[in-house]
Amino acid sequence: MHEFSLAQSVIETTLAVARDRNVERIQKVILKFGIFALVQEDQFRFCFDLIKTESNLTATSELEIDWIPGELQCESCDFKGMVKTSPQEHNELAPIFQCPACKSYSTKIISGTETIIDSIVV
Ligand SMILES: [Zn+2]
Repeated sequence: MHEFSLAQSVIETTLAVARDRNVERIQKVILKFGIFALVQEDQFRFCFDLIKTESNLTATSELEIDWIPGELQCESCDFKGMVKTSPQEHNELAPIFQCPACKSYSTKIISGTETIIDSIVV
């Protein structure tokens, strides 16, 4: 389960930062996910809400997810550019992306697979 381990590592990092700075409560965690990171937002939120209750530091933390566009290069035509597909359209089992120009599936991901903790609000 990709979302579960990702949520776990986000919470672990958040807790480490909180302990480092002697913070008593984390109000909000702001994440940036690339649209090609193949994170199912609903599943991720579910896992995050489950794991956050294990510590008082994160038990009431809000979660904000910003989706950032990714860059795709097509191997069938000359297209290379940013793609802003809705994350809900992604299927974890079939991580292929269609070229917006020629509809080919022979595409290569240049960027947009990142999962970043943008900021932690205390
Ligand atoms: Zn193309």
